[in-house]
Amino acid sequence: MEPTPKKRIFIGLLVLTCLILSLFLFLLWYVPLLGLKNIHPSLPYLYSVALAMFVFFMFAGGLLLIFTILRGKDILFTQRLRGLVAKVLFPFMILMGKMVGVSKEKVQQSFIELNNHLVRSNHHRTKPNRLLLLLPHCIQDFDCQIKITGNIKNCKGCGKCEIKELIELADQYQVKIAVATGGTLARRIIVENRPEAIVAVACELDLTSGIQDTYPIPVIGILNDRPYGPCINTKADIQKVKKAILDFLEPRGI
Ligand code: SF4
Repeated sequence: MEPTPKKRIFIGLLVLTCLILSLFLFLLWYVPLLGLKNIHPSLPYLYSVALAMFVFFMFAGGLLLIFTILRGKDILFTQRLRGLVAKVLFPFMILMGKMVGVSKEKVQQSFIELNNHLVRSNHHRTKPNRLLLLLPHCIQDFDCQIKITGNIKNCKGCGKCEIKELIELADQYQVKIAVATGGTLARRIIVENRPEAIVAVACELDLTSGIQDTYPIPVIGILNDRPYGPCINTKADIQKVKKAILDFLEPRGI
């Protein structure tokens, strides 16, 4: 499978991270070696073995990740790789991106795409009532007076915004649906609903922090469109949302 430009950004930054970490580890190995010898003659050996193992696992993890991206299929440990990417690699990627002039937004997009890819590769399936469709409040029409944050079903279905279609989609597949005004409410909704999987629509920042916070729950993230700028009358691609729902519901192999 040919990697998309967003995935290529991630692979490039991953290779750069591995190279810089290797240099750093070489210094970390070389500098204290002499001092350790004075404490005990076998300490430099033990220290070298520990660092060599770390380098081995770092490169093995990096290669496994790259092959999973290139093959587009679960090879080994996709679930663990997702955790590694979300918790460890992503902060490094932001740093590396800064060094080579790739914007934070682009790295976040790349991270979201890679996360989706790993979730899909893992073929995680769930029952409809354990799947949560989580939406940002900014999808609601700015002038709509109805309060939908506590209960999205308060929507009158006038069709001025996509909340109507998204509720219909959730009803069609019998999945849970909720709207969050920010990270705190999103976390509360997740604790209350205890979903096994989440389809989330949001901007780059909210999706990346959401994916990181909710790990190990698999999340497929869909970026919202912002034709009027951030946080107002944003849009969701209904077909992408539908596909993400089906990715969690359809039996394997379809
Ligand atoms: S579809 Fe629902 S949420 Fe959107 S403007 Fe109409 S009533 Fe408000």
